[in-house]
Amino acid sequence: MSRKIYLNGKIVEEKEALISVFDHGYLYGDGIFEGIRAYNGRVFKLDQHIERLFKSAKTIMLKMELGPEEIKEAILKTIRANQLEDAYIRVVISRGVGDLGLDPRKCETPTVVIIASKIELYDPALYEKGLKVKTVPTRRNGPEMVNPRIKSLNYLNNIMARIEANLVDAPEAIMLNQQGYVAECTGDNIFIIEGNNLYTPPSYAGLLKGIKREVAMDIGRDLKLNVREVLFTRYDLFNADECFLTGTAAEVIPVVEVDGRQIGEGKPGSYTKQIIEKFREIACKTGTPIYE
Ligand code: PMP
Repeated sequence: MSRKIYLNGKIVEEKEALISVFDHGYLYGDGIFEGIRAYNGRVFKLDQHIERLFKSAKTIMLKMELGPEEIKEAILKTIRANQLEDAYIRVVISRGVGDLGLDPRKCETPTVVIIASKIELYDPALYEKGLKVKTVPTRRNGPEMVNPRIKSLNYLNNIMARIEANLVDAPEAIMLNQQGYVAECTGDNIFIIEGNNLYTPPSYAGLLKGIKREVAMDIGRDLKLNVREVLFTRYDLFNADECFLTGTAAEVIPVVEVDGRQIGEGKPGSYTKQIIEKFREIACKTGTPIYE
């Protein structure tokens, strides 16, 4: 079935959703995006995604032609046009059409694209078995460069890491920051559990502050875990009782091996299983209704 795409205010057929080769999103990766999920007829954490989108826009000085409410409405309209109840939604806003120079002042109007489709990042069996991940040589860029908190169209840092993971047959890569602390994965945030402590690296380690990261921290607090944002190393990872990743596409997925070291008992730990279960419960029940 041909997907219906939102392009600059109109819903068009997929084959008509075309963008200029002079768009600076294409020429320079000059733009921002969001990945959002809908479950069971509701968009999960829509306000949080919109807030992050506007923060990314402000940071790169991208003028938003639409306000938060208008973007929300456009997202809902795109999902409805595709008659979806469960979806992966991609909002992409680029600097727009300019000339061949870098100067963004030449780009008059941002290009706005919304895609509502499906996604299955990992084989469902891996949520039961857990992932075996590897650390890769490419370091996460630090906050003093293009801050990873900006969800920008410049994903080459992560793609390099992803290529390195592919070379060693790993489903996801752990990226360290320049000081050697664990930062995050190519498209997911990372957590470890030690006793009743739930640790995740702080944003100054160099990472995207994931919306699902916040959800996992909230669930951790509900489970009476002591939730802390702290720097940790591969040593801490190897010796953790449990480890899991979070992300909009991945949701919450257990990690059972890092760089050949078994984590805990080599199977998803009991807190991780509880967090996955709680996450699914919350995701199905809460969110912005699509069809009301
Ligand atoms: N880190 C990176 C680099 C990401 O691209 C993503 C999103 N796929 C995440 C973390 C997780 O963020 P969220 O929970 O908001 O999807």
